[in-house]
Amino acid sequence: MTAPARTARGSEELIRAEEPVLAHNYHPLPVVVARAEGAWVEDVEGRRYLDMLAGYSALNFGHRHPALIDAAHRQLDRLTLTSRAFHNDRLAGFAERLSALTGTDMVLPMNTGAEAVESGIKVARKWAYDVKGVPADRATIVVAADNFHGRTTTIVSFSTDETARAGFGPFTPGFKVVPYNDLAALEAAVDETTAAVLIEPIQGEAGVNIPDDGYLAGVRELTRRAGCLFVADEIQSGLGRTGHTLAVEHESVVPDVVLLGKALGGGIVPVSAVVGSREVLGVLRPGEHGSTFGGNPLAAAVGTAVVELLETGEFQRRATELGAVLREGLAALVGRGVVGFRARGLWAGVDVDPALGTGREVSERLMREGVLVKDTHGSTIRLAPPLTVTGAELEGALGTLEKVLTS
Ligand SMILES: *Cc1c(COP(=O)(O)O)cnc(C)c1O
Repeated sequence: MTAPARTARGSEELIRAEEPVLAHNYHPLPVVVARAEGAWVEDVEGRRYLDMLAGYSALNFGHRHPALIDAAHRQLDRLTLTSRAFHNDRLAGFAERLSALTGTDMVLPMNTGAEAVESGIKVARKWAYDVKGVPADRATIVVAADNFHGRTTTIVSFSTDETARAGFGPFTPGFKVVPYNDLAALEAAVDETTAAVLIEPIQGEAGVNIPDDGYLAGVRELTRRAGCLFVADEIQSGLGRTGHTLAVEHESVVPDVVLLGKALGGGIVPVSAVVGSREVLGVLRPGEHGSTFGGNPLAAAVGTAVVELLETGEFQRRATELGAVLREGLAALVGRGVVGFRARGLWAGVDVDPALGTGREVSERLMREGVLVKDTHGSTIRLAPPLTVTGAELEGALGTLEKVLTS
């Protein structure tokens, strides 16, 4: 961040200008970001903020990580899009590296997280008919309450968040919702028509909801016994955030299918993927599924550079080490404005004393002090800094949180 941002209109004017022309499906904090580097963003007026949200984990490597920007630049100068009508010279390497990183056989490249979820659902259903032998159109998928898997009509069909659903019916059938972190309820819901159990290893949007130890291993054991797939949505929890490449590694669990997105695009382009065993992803034949942009050379180049960063183990290690700093800092605030918190790696859901304001109000106060976070529900705020954040920056943010909550 050298030269000051050059924008004709100021923050307030730009926020006002959005109102009549931009659909109101978001309620952003009143900050207008103009440039960014690493863990820091700068607004139109040149004010700097520590980014403690990191694009909901899409910016795990920080803003404009040099290796990722370099990979993108080099690819922009050579080839950006072919469609899958032709091969491109970047896709094989991306698929090889990503499958090796995740310990899987095959990769189905897509763009957004919701597309990866949709693709995972389609693949699980096809597997149920072709391999498991479920009668046509009878396959079910068991999901957890308070899930967040994206915004398409099928995905909101099994959301339990009324705001996400109301007004968008009719809904896609074939889903059963059970309480999260409840193996008995899951067991009762699984039957011979079950194609898959689809869950987040940690529920991010629900407030960084971490299941009890043994839950993920229990889901693995139960799905294996029942002869259905375990599909883990690691779009937010994966790629280093929790201290491992995948959050399921905390219980040494290997799902049949893993959904990846967000950080896979390095904060540059949307890149998502379904990764899994050959038995499952091998069910797709030409023409049955696709995407114009999925697997494009620019996405593959950036995705490969992301995998290379994760191969070093540095980011997983940072998430573990700095996660301890985060947990310690938050523990010191319990009873001093913080009611409770859940944290794993560099990821925390913090329940703020409702008497001090809503999560939104606390987020706005933090913003005015130069720290950007996002509220989830009610009085919960989510902390998910880039994995490149330094210990000093993290302690600075915790100090700001303390100031906002105790002054
Ligand atoms: C963000 C997210 C999605 C959806 O990803 P988009 O890229 O916004 O479509 C799906 N699942 C989880 C767990 C997510 O956090």
